[in-house]
Amino acid sequence: MGEIFVIVEHRKDEIRDITFEMLWKANEVSQKLSYTLTAVIIGSKIETLVNELAPRADKVIVVEDEQLKEFNSELYKTVLQDLMDECHPFLTLIGHTSWGMEIGPSLSVKTGFPLATDCLDIMIEDDDRPIAIRQMYSGKIYSKVSFRPSDGYILTVRPGAFPPDRVGEHQGEIVKREVPDLPEPPRHFVEFIDTGAGEVDISQAELLVSVGRGIENKENLSAVKELADLLGGVISCSRPVVDKNWLPKYHQVGTSGKSVKAKVYLALGISGAFQHIAGITRVGTVIAVNKDPNAPIFRVADYAVVADLFEIVASLKEKLRVSQKVFCETTEVGRMHDA
Ligand SMILES: Cc1cc2nc3c(=O)[nH]c(=O)nc-3n(C[C@H](O)[C@H](O)[C@H](O)COP(=O)(O)OP(=O)(O)OC[C@H]3O[C@@H](n4cnc5c(N)ncnc54)[C@H](O)[C@@H]3O)c2cc1C
Repeated sequence: MGEIFVIVEHRKDEIRDITFEMLWKANEVSQKLSYTLTAVIIGSKIETLVNELAPRADKVIVVEDEQLKEFNSELYKTVLQDLMDECHPFLTLIGHTSWGMEIGPSLSVKTGFPLATDCLDIMIEDDDRPIAIRQMYSGKIYSKVSFRPSDGYILTVRPGAFPPDRVGEHQGEIVKREVPDLPEPPRHFVEFIDTGAGEVDISQAELLVSVGRGIENKENLSAVKELADLLGGVISCSRPVVDKNWLPKYHQVGTSGKSVKAKVYLALGISGAFQHIAGITRVGTVIAVNKDPNAPIFRVADYAVVADLFEIVASLKEKLRVSQKVFCETTEVGRMHDA
């Protein structure tokens, strides 16, 4: 029987969301093909994580060693190649994250399995070959990628492409594997530096007013900050805003920033690159303002406003000030009556 591998990504004793998302899709495909769904976890002292995976897969392969405690592409690649050479999994899913970007292509070369990166969906053709759905031209076009026949296929999966898998009814068999001979890695893990909460913690905010490169310069930020204050919200941003030093890193949303879960996310002048969208998958309502009607952010927006962000910010501020004034005057009148 065929097998589907999901390579488990974890950090600081926690399984990353991308793993549960890949398990969701792998579950669907494995059921369709009647294949075994296998989660592969590499690390050290990972018993709790293994227990978390067992109800979500038919099998959990565990490769444990002190040297494998932190992700190291050279070492992880050696372990995975050894495993794939032996098991020949039909599909191997890896997150399209810093892990997957490092090990996906080299695993493909080493195993000879064809690779599709940054996949948004996976379908199975009649001849049981996978088809990967990818985006092209900054998300403006979707493409179907088919593969030459092979014993196995490797796909890196975009974070946020699938919903996370809920605790399933599997009772995954736990299989501990010997660690193969590991090379002396040219790079070593030094330390993990968190983006830090900074003065504000955007991951806890209920209302986020988020700015992108469309804001044009640092000076224009003050108008957006005023709007955020009037709304009782917190300001967040896309990566270019941080790269240009317009806002500190702890305001950044996305794969290399923070994942947020605000009830309302107002995106101003943000195009909607997948690295950004991956950070807002748990947001309630997305309101996007962009002057480009084809901006990819509109695909995930609940409300799409095709307009100049500066006009929208000015008119929202005006309306909020008026309603605040009316509220203050009404309260004042109320107090006078009470007196
Ligand atoms: C490894 C890696 C990790 C990354 N991590 C992140 C991450 O964590 N977070 C992140 O955000 N990005 C991340 N990126 C960058 C990401 O790929 C995009 O480049 C980035 O998200 C684009 O930011 P943006 O939407 O602000 O800018 P742009 O893509 O330049 O979009 C600006 C948008 O503003 C609109 N606009 C311009 N002027 C106006 C106006 N006056 N009114 C209305 N709309 C206007 C434009 O139409 C455009 O859509 C990462 C990239 C890599 C390679």
